[in-house]
Amino acid sequence: MDIRIKKVLQDQPVGQRVAVAGWVRTRRDTGGFSFIEINDGSCLANLQVIADKGLENYQQDIKNLATGSSVVVDGELRKSPAKGQAVELHATKIDIVGGADSETYPLQKKRHSFEFLREINHLRPRTNALGAVSRVRSRLGYAVHNFFQQRGFIQVHTPIITTSDCEGAGEMFQVSTGRERSGEDHFFGRSAGLTVSGQLQAEVYALAMGDVYTFGPTFRAENSNTSRHLAEFWMLEPEMAFCDLDGNRKIAEELLKYLLADVLENCAEDMALFDKFIEKGLIGKLQDVIAKDFIHISYTEAVERLEKAGDKFEYAVRWGADLQSEHERYLSEKLFRCPVAVTDYPASIKPFYMRLNDDGKTVAAMDILVPGIGEIIGGSQREDRLEVLQSRMIETGIDPAEYDWYLDLRRYGSVPHAGFGLGFERLVQFVTGMANIREVIPFPRTPGSAPC
Ligand code: ATP
Ligand code: MG
Ligand code: MG
Ligand code: MG
Repeated sequence: MDIRIKKVLQDQPVGQRVAVAGWVRTRRDTGGFSFIEINDGSCLANLQVIADKGLENYQQDIKNLATGSSVVVDGELRKSPAKGQAVELHATKIDIVGGADSETYPLQKKRHSFEFLREINHLRPRTNALGAVSRVRSRLGYAVHNFFQQRGFIQVHTPIITTSDCEGAGEMFQVSTGRERSGEDHFFGRSAGLTVSGQLQAEVYALAMGDVYTFGPTFRAENSNTSRHLAEFWMLEPEMAFCDLDGNRKIAEELLKYLLADVLENCAEDMALFDKFIEKGLIGKLQDVIAKDFIHISYTEAVERLEKAGDKFEYAVRWGADLQSEHERYLSEKLFRCPVAVTDYPASIKPFYMRLNDDGKTVAAMDILVPGIGEIIGGSQREDRLEVLQSRMIETGIDPAEYDWYLDLRRYGSVPHAGFGLGFERLVQFVTGMANIREVIPFPRTPGSAPC
């Protein structure tokens, strides 16, 4: 019976005959035996295989079995006398499926730097840290769907190729057939690009179905070589009809707490690894986040608090300028030491679709900032009044004729509605304590680099 190592270690079915398939992490020989640690990616822990010299291919193959080789082991599970493991597999047969050359295999038995692992991106999921990140990332994706499906949200698949540059920030990758130069028109009849956000299309569905969410890849051609920006990343975007900024903020806080609690419960072994080797005290920090209310302040208050902090920032703080990551981190890491929701930003630094407040100067925007990263969520209540939206478009240089479909949503049955975007990699960073966003996505695309 084929079985995953995670299940073996959970159930400990001593006496059972099983077949386990995986990759060799280490081999140690003593008189007449080899101890082989194998890992199959299902969990952090390895399974110890005991290979006796009586095995048919022992002398020729097993004794030289190299780290990195793939094997299928048939055998019997027995109680292990060794400390730290409950069961071990006594092999009756070991098939070497794919050998490896121990001289050239890049993953030697030592701790490799994350920079080095990025150079062998195709092999790094075989390491403890990247394996753990991959499992946590997978669980978070599952928990995202659980959270929204349990609350009756409808998932919408918004387009990857689109003609609307939602943020209006000129960060859209263009989609080309490569044939335009030879005189052919654009494939779609007009220029199109890769989505920078599914929000505008999610609004279409929110104004028909109530509560919806979209969760998919997002692309931004921004030349930001930072530890929190990627050119291709995943974004989760809920959009709720009959919802204002306060409701939006509450759902965002509830979501973050739910996701942290889910991972602490379901990925305990991987989380313990991060707590020990990546960020000391991580688990306690996340438990604190779950236990306490997030801080809520306005942008104006945030600027005042930052001004009071003195001039220790690289970028000056000024009402009307966007907060830089150093300011965001100061607020969440130093001043409040917990997640902070900052609302009501100046209209001049936010996109056209955010609802203008009564003061005429600020919009109903919301950013959630977390320690170690800064902005993890950006959202707003949307402008639901046709005339105000039209004049905001003109002010920000957007042609209302191109967004007639979007304006229709305000012409026919407009309602207050709100939503936000959670950067999925920033979430994985926050949960795992990884300092660089390149470590939490399988294939990081950054300016100058796309591994495969
Ligand atoms: P930043 O200020 O960090 O550049 P943003 O304000 O441009 O982010 P939004 O347009 O508000 O980002 O997007 C919503 C969320 O998507 C952000 O809060 C963040 O979590 C995530 N995000 C945005 N840009 C990136 C990126 N280049 N790489 C990874 N995640 C991103
Ligand atoms: Mg940005
Ligand atoms: Mg921002
Ligand atoms: Mg933002």
